[in-house]
Amino acid sequence: MQIQIDKLIRSKRKTIALIVERDGGLTVRAPTRISQSQINAFVQEKSDWIIRTREKLKLIVQMPARQYSDDETFLFLGSSFDLKLVKAQRPSLQFDNGFTLSRTAQKRGASLFMRWYKERAYDVISERVTQFAKQYNFTPKQVKITSAKTRWGSCSPNGTLNFTWRLVMAPLDVIDYVVIHELAHLRVKDHSSKFWGVVESIYPEYKKKRKWLRENGEKLNL
Ligand SMILES: [Zn+2]
Repeated sequence: MQIQIDKLIRSKRKTIALIVERDGGLTVRAPTRISQSQINAFVQEKSDWIIRTREKLKLIVQMPARQYSDDETFLFLGSSFDLKLVKAQRPSLQFDNGFTLSRTAQKRGASLFMRWYKERAYDVISERVTQFAKQYNFTPKQVKITSAKTRWGSCSPNGTLNFTWRLVMAPLDVIDYVVIHELAHLRVKDHSSKFWGVVESIYPEYKKKRKWLRENGEKLNL
């Protein structure tokens, strides 16, 4: 597939940079000395990335803002569940194979859902961490749930494993991959081949899960 360059900016820079703009247009920043055919070749080489980035942008733009009203759907452990508004209940947000929310609490939907996800994330993820740590001899210090937007997990130098609450929207096998990834950082800090070797020895299927996160991560959000 031939990719069109919408804007070409030449400057004294040393490398070519590709920018997919918010409207999906492609801007290329290139060194003055490099030829047009070299630029075209570079763009074609990166066509997969450009197409993927455009798809992601479309998803973000198309996603309507949440109203926390009837029939909106919410992800939990990889499945989608409906929301129904109900008369006042305590707690205001409840889950039983679907969500129910007090009509009077609709305005607080965002914070109620976030709190619910944070609690579930802690329950699910700390249980997985404990299980894998025991099985494969890791000694994490503690599990913390964060509101990180761009990273699924991280490992602090003191041995604390951090995970974003959004992760609990993903299927359990994807959660397991992120858990094992962070546990493996307790042994190897960087992303060297040694590190991936540790991950693979515990979870041979890990590449599929990484791919799933790259392709679907954008959807794991309120
Ligand atoms: Zn990592």
